[in-house]
Amino acid sequence: MARVLIVGAGLTGSLCAALLRREASSPLRLTVWDKAGDSGGRMTTASSPHNPQSTVDLGAQYITCTPHYAKIHQSFYDELLADGILKPLTSPIDGMVIKEGDCNFVAPHGVSSIVNHYLKQSGADICFRQRVTQINLRNNKWEVSRETGSSEQFDIIVLTMPAPQILQLRGDIANLISECQRQQLESVSYSSRYALGLFYEAGTKIDVPWAGRYITSNPCIRFISIDNKKRNIESSEIGPSLVIHTTVPFGVTHLEHSIEDVQELIFQQLENILPGLPQPVATKCQKWRHSQVTNAAANSLGQMTLHLQPFLVCGGDGFTQSNFDGCITSALCVLEALKNHI
Ligand SMILES: Cc1cc2nc3c(=O)[nH]c(=O)nc-3n(C[C@H](O)[C@H](O)[C@H](O)COP(=O)(O)OP(=O)(O)OC[C@H]3O[C@@H](n4cnc5c(N)ncnc54)[C@H](O)[C@@H]3O)c2cc1C
Repeated sequence: MARVLIVGAGLTGSLCAALLRREASSPLRLTVWDKAGDSGGRMTTASSPHNPQSTVDLGAQYITCTPHYAKIHQSFYDELLADGILKPLTSPIDGMVIKEGDCNFVAPHGVSSIVNHYLKQSGADICFRQRVTQINLRNNKWEVSRETGSSEQFDIIVLTMPAPQILQLRGDIANLISECQRQQLESVSYSSRYALGLFYEAGTKIDVPWAGRYITSNPCIRFISIDNKKRNIESSEIGPSLVIHTTVPFGVTHLEHSIEDVQELIFQQLENILPGLPQPVATKCQKWRHSQVTNAAANSLGQMTLHLQPFLVCGGDGFTQSNFDGCITSALCVLEALKNHI
């Protein structure tokens, strides 16, 4: 049975795993490795240490479906809506630009539930805290080394991490990337920002008429979401949860600062926007060094095949665009590239 390794348990990796399971003509052994402690990647959902039901989406907030993608990705939307994983966004987001024909969706159980849905469908062996460090060629197979644990051999590899992290990999892979591909990978650029999740005690009132708000006049804060309200979850047992996204200039300036210092600066600015907020019972500050793609790889058509025999392909939003449809497009392109090898 061919062994396939998918590196990255974000949306692209999980969808590649599910599509490979659905479309493979012969049985495959699928394995997903991610360096993080949980699934989601930039679609991560964090829980309060005091109440696992109190959650915040630290990365992607809502899914915007344009009329174009409503048609070409209809089956993906239909499936997620039928399973209750996506629901229409009905709560007000102040300052959101709404284009005619667009539909917006939220994930009531947190945006990582989309990723978990595909991981479950894939039946893959999923291992967290597995940072891939080296990829070498051994007897027509890939030998993959990770930071901890022994190396393992695979027939096919799909890399879905951001382009700079592909370029950091050591071993034979570094020499197999052609000069032209290296330049394309190096040209992928990302914004950087921080996300701060705040969890409050049950019964806390946050008295604002919106569920989310884009802020235009603050050097530090770009977006605030009352995350439970965004997802229409208001319960007497679950405290409200907030997520604050910083502006990109703030993110870039403070990229190498300590998380504690950054959190303090965000709190100071939040006090100007929402004065008198009570003390949260828990916080979670996330640095997004590679937040959203500002320049995708040129002429990559959704994927980049680095080697044919054995097969190694890269996918992810770096080859398309930074949103749900960008990841679907890339996963479909990865599948197409792999079609004759599975
Ligand atoms: C703050 C923010 C807001 C956003 N808002 C929206 C939004 O509202 N709507 C929307 O549609 N999109 C939004 N996006 C974009 C969306 O989240 C991304 O386009 C999407 O999640 C990318 O998925 P991916 O699987 O391609 O990459 P990722 O989610 O980055 O997955 C890659 C995975 O690879 C893992 N990895 C990296 N290196 C290694 C290694 N060496 N070994 C093992 N594992 C490794 C990482 O841990 C990660 O889990 C937002 C993103 C951010 C950060």
